[in-house]
Amino acid sequence: MEPFAPTLDGRRIVLGVCGGIACYKSVSLARALTQSGARVQVVLTQSAQEFLRPLVFEGVTGIPPLTSLWSSEGSARHLRIAEEADAVIVAPATADFLARAAQGRADDLLTAILLSTRAPVLLAPAMNTRMWEHVQVQRNVQHIEQVLPYTILGPSSGPLGVGEGEGMGRMLEPEELIAHVARAVGTRPIWAGKRVVITAGPTREALDPVRYLGNRSSGKMAFALAREAFVRGADVTLVSGPSAVPVPVGVAIVRVESAVDMLAAVTPCVPDADLLIFAAAVGDYRASEALTQKRKRTGQESWSPELVPNPDIAAETRTLGGRALRFGFALETADLETEARRKLAVKDLDWIMANRPVSGRSGFEADTNEGVLLSRWNPDHSIPVPPAPKAVVAAQLLDAVERRWTETP
Ligand code: C5P
Repeated sequence: MEPFAPTLDGRRIVLGVCGGIACYKSVSLARALTQSGARVQVVLTQSAQEFLRPLVFEGVTGIPPLTSLWSSEGSARHLRIAEEADAVIVAPATADFLARAAQGRADDLLTAILLSTRAPVLLAPAMNTRMWEHVQVQRNVQHIEQVLPYTILGPSSGPLGVGEGEGMGRMLEPEELIAHVARAVGTRPIWAGKRVVITAGPTREALDPVRYLGNRSSGKMAFALAREAFVRGADVTLVSGPSAVPVPVGVAIVRVESAVDMLAAVTPCVPDADLLIFAAAVGDYRASEALTQKRKRTGQESWSPELVPNPDIAAETRTLGGRALRFGFALETADLETEARRKLAVKDLDWIMANRPVSGRSGFEADTNEGVLLSRWNPDHSIPVPPAPKAVVAAQLLDAVERRWTETP
């Protein structure tokens, strides 16, 4: 699992674990949270201890789990833990736990913490489909979603416990849950509700039904930006050409093939967007006419398909109105800053990050990025973007946007 940018460094996360078979995944979640820099205090319900011993969690978090409301610390232990927490996540949340949470009971340490914390509370239900669909459970879930300040995550549909087949009731995977925890602690008020649209990946320009013109773009930079914008609290849509990178949790994705498709998908998003990021490596040319049948090679004859220029998505969206800030990229092998400055102006961008090719290759497929950042407001001043993982570069770039929103709301 790719680590998050330092979002969880030093954060205190309470991980409540209830007694459902999905709790085998809670160990991985505890480990992943810890590896992302969080201090993870596990709290086990009595039934959870029928499945797992506290020691297994201590082994992955380094912190002994708590199992009882009662301790030598006195009866106020739940208050201290609740007060210190930056977020509370209960995974798995069983039917019984949801009922107790919905009722506001405080008959064990975990429910007492829920009532006494002011931190975000996330509940990840997991149970058999028949239990999940029971009217009592659904009523509790509805009450939690509509009345209580808790967020329900999942469940998803898929294979359940042995002999239970497939259905609704699977706990979300640890990497999905950790993304929601990162968002719960990483939300910055200025990003909440902001609409961010990001173009990503390469495009494929068909020559015939089986051949295309493409490029080496991986989509990694765009996907890192999408993930970081989600963590900060934005509503994020990726409009992506073919990319094998996993879609970040919580991000909507529109899959496209060609530049023309990409422009068609981006166009309706522009008027409502707050931020447009053009991170796609859009093919510059397409065949004037893609063949409808596969072209056969009969001899040694050459093939010169006629190529026509593609629309420039960044430039075309200038005229579509809206209030969005506009962020672009430029990969340059020579005259880095001069070229980037020209594109900043021609494409009417607010920022452009000029990338240097990484280790002599295209730079597209690398996990790191580097270059300089230029802005509309001070185009002669280039801000260095030092070599770093794309997740860290994404955070630096979005910091620039955040500063602008904060200074001129
Ligand atoms: O002109 P060049 O391709 O170098 O410009 C790069 C910037 O313009 C990137 O932000 C890229 O996503 C965007 N672009 C675009 N549509 C194109 C070509 C580039 O949106 N057809």
